[in-house]
Amino acid sequence: MKYISTRNAEVLYSAPEAIVKGIADDGGLFVPSSFPTIDSKFIEELEELSYPERVAKVLHLYMDEFSYDELCSYAEKAYSRFDGDPCPVVKIEDALFVMELWHGPTFAFKDMALTMLPHLMVASKKKLGIDEKTLVLVATSGDTGKAALEGFKNVDGTEVMVFFPRHGVSNMQFLQMATQEGQNLSVVGINGNFDDAQRAVKEMFVNEGLKANLKATGRAMSSANSINWGRLAPQIAYYVSSYADLVACGEIENGDKINFVVPTGNFGNILAGYYAYRMGLPVSKLIVASNANNVLADFFNEGKYSINRSFYKTASPSMDILVSSNLERLLFELSGRDADLMKKIYADLKEKGEFTFDIDLLNGSIFEAGWADEAETKEAIYNYFDLDDVTFDPHTAVAGSVYNDYSIDTEDETPTIIVSTASPYKFPVDVLEALTGKREKDVFKAMLKLQNESGMDCPGELYYINEKKIIHKKVVKIEDAMQAVLDFALDTTRG
Ligand SMILES: *Cc1c(COP(=O)(O)O)cnc(C)c1O
Repeated sequence: MKYISTRNAEVLYSAPEAIVKGIADDGGLFVPSSFPTIDSKFIEELEELSYPERVAKVLHLYMDEFSYDELCSYAEKAYSRFDGDPCPVVKIEDALFVMELWHGPTFAFKDMALTMLPHLMVASKKKLGIDEKTLVLVATSGDTGKAALEGFKNVDGTEVMVFFPRHGVSNMQFLQMATQEGQNLSVVGINGNFDDAQRAVKEMFVNEGLKANLKATGRAMSSANSINWGRLAPQIAYYVSSYADLVACGEIENGDKINFVVPTGNFGNILAGYYAYRMGLPVSKLIVASNANNVLADFFNEGKYSINRSFYKTASPSMDILVSSNLERLLFELSGRDADLMKKIYADLKEKGEFTFDIDLLNGSIFEAGWADEAETKEAIYNYFDLDDVTFDPHTAVAGSVYNDYSIDTEDETPTIIVSTASPYKFPVDVLEALTGKREKDVFKAMLKLQNESGMDCPGELYYINEKKIIHKKVVKIEDAMQAVLDFALDTTRG
């Protein structure tokens, strides 16, 4: 399988090249030159396989430079870091299921791909004969940072530098990142929001001066955000795997269509679902769920993408995003792979803060979109607990709320999977408040109370984080982020 850029469909790259580079030189995103196909026999074969074997089988279709056995060994290492089944699908009502993607080391779905990416990155470099260090730059709205730090910590030949909005992540997300140990890691707060961090990092990737300066220190940049193909590809596997699970337990017939509802920010998770659909997975609807930062919901309903709007800090901070990077990959496909159009609309976005897209193409797609405000999100946490005995984190609750609205509006009875993206213990203060109506500001007290209230075990790794030392305290202005990268690269005091 070869890869092309969304802004130039002429040049072909291999999968290892796409993974090591992270983003194309023209600023576009790597996409597969075509979609491999799967059929009902493929699904049947998956039923017998372990989750790592399923991942390897799906990835092998996209990365033939890696053997199946090689991919399997990476997946086994990656998913051995999970507590039990990496991707359990739980039935909560007739024809309504929850896929829990947060049983990994950092308790959010980012682990599904970020435990795998370091293996793919190291192997890709080997295949390409690259021995310079890979400096992985990450912009995070809270969860990617920690998952990237855990994935890459002490991995030879790699370093990670995370930029996060100092006042835009939850308390627990901050503690998880700030206490991270590892020789090859740096965590830097910025004065700004996630979009500022993401823009700064994207600009660094195409900054020739920075590239040359880093090269002189024996380094090249890459990305662990979902703009990186190696981050996106493993996410396709859980859509296919959850479908196989529903077939295996007799909830659906092989070939029946299902819906997925996905709490969405940077559009990486749901895009992987779209790719699974393009491969032939029987999907009826992909439902985009936004929080109060409802730029995507408006876009899908009106065809106009506009970031000229207020930015809200919500209880679902990993979705507090206005510029959804991976939307570009979807629009590339919906427009019939029109690289010139991508250049044009993303230039419009940069210059005017908005662009329009053919609404008929959006309406003709399998996407639906809705959003939930803060009160609706809390109500969803309360109601799903009350009615279905599940405790949702605020991101998952946004999806739950949007699904409720959707099913009332449409009376669609298609079996549906709500994609659950974080453990409620990553956001104990807000979840507890939604359940009890009382706000306990102390995160650790809130965790204990939430344990009593929900009957769900609090993970020790999160509870005992208060005994860990805060290692990373640096905060910079967004315009100094690039200098921080150089300082990190030139710092000879690290081990
Ligand atoms: C990152 C994240 C999301 C949003 O996923 P995207 O791929 O950015 O759309 C939703 N929920 C949680 C908990 C996350 O960490």
